[in-house]
Amino acid sequence: MELVDQALSGNRRALARLISQVENDGSLAAQTLAAIFARTGRARVVGVTGSPGTGKSTLVSELAKAYRGTGQTVGIVAVDPTSPFTGGAILGDRIRMRDLAGDPGVFIRSMATRGSLGGLARATADVVQILDATGYDIIFVETVGAGQSEVDIARTADTTIVVEAPGLGDEVQAIKAGILEIADVLVVNKADREGATNTVRALQAMLDLGAAPRAISHHGVSMSVPTQNGQHRDSALTELAWRPPILQTVALESKGIAKVIEAIAHHQAYLTESGEAQTRHRERIKSELEGILRETLLRHLMASLSSSDLNRMVERIAARELDPYTAAETLLAPRP
Ligand code: GDP
Repeated sequence: MELVDQALSGNRRALARLISQVENDGSLAAQTLAAIFARTGRARVVGVTGSPGTGKSTLVSELAKAYRGTGQTVGIVAVDPTSPFTGGAILGDRIRMRDLAGDPGVFIRSMATRGSLGGLARATADVVQILDATGYDIIFVETVGAGQSEVDIARTADTTIVVEAPGLGDEVQAIKAGILEIADVLVVNKADREGATNTVRALQAMLDLGAAPRAISHHGVSMSVPTQNGQHRDSALTELAWRPPILQTVALESKGIAKVIEAIAHHQAYLTESGEAQTRHRERIKSELEGILRETLLRHLMASLSSSDLNRMVERIAARELDPYTAAETLLAPRP
């Protein structure tokens, strides 16, 4: 695990090689993640998602620059599941490279869709863990908001920013993809364009509709009321609830960036104060553990089945002699 040591001690080339290994080799990934695990859990992970062209890459570069200005180190993981060659992500990187290239406090990585075992969400989570262990303070995970994989990837983030832009009909897309539900902060970028206030208004209306039950009160005040047996519990009325703020930015001109940074900080404070951070952390661990168990069990089972047994079952199902459920039960039944 020499490569791990080199990567963790700040060797960027070793870090890049380590990430490629983890992406491409399942058993190495398991070893590597086991070796670094104790050092993870420090970084703040911020997901940024939205339709192509809304300005995510530009926004992330500006946010990265702002964090660098306060001395924090930044990792950026750009994921584009729609392009097998990560064309979009690479384009985004080029925009970023202009401003961030040569800064040793920034590490940028594009995720290739192909070659990642166990799915893109898993591979992305692995890379985030490696950057976390290496000591990056803030890690951005940038995805194209298009489907379930974005939602899965967003689950690995502490704070998720959903980026919209005027005139793209994004509000509707966001709802379709369930993207609005995962938003902790909403950003209407390209606020220099006509229609930005309409987009803000549309998002506002959607939040009012969709999130009404959980958005009664604002974050900030938590009141504890004593119950009869003397224990304290949160009163339902003053229950901490987070309503995603809607912010306007012009990323291209670096406008509105400070407000986004502030919203991220507010949200992180909310997560801690409300106990939500712990809940999310446990949920994440649970789903990761379940995923690993599922993969491991399947691998063990497949290794224990002979291909002729499997093929025979396939033939019987194809001949309608047997239904697939019964076939699976039979294959799973303990054999003498
Ligand atoms: P992504 O596909 O969401 O990552 O979007 P990009 O960051 O690549 O930006 C798409 C295009 O929008 C680029 O040509 C950017 O220069 C431009 N863009 C980004 N932010 C703004 C903005 O605030 N205003 C305007 N007018 N254009 C912007």
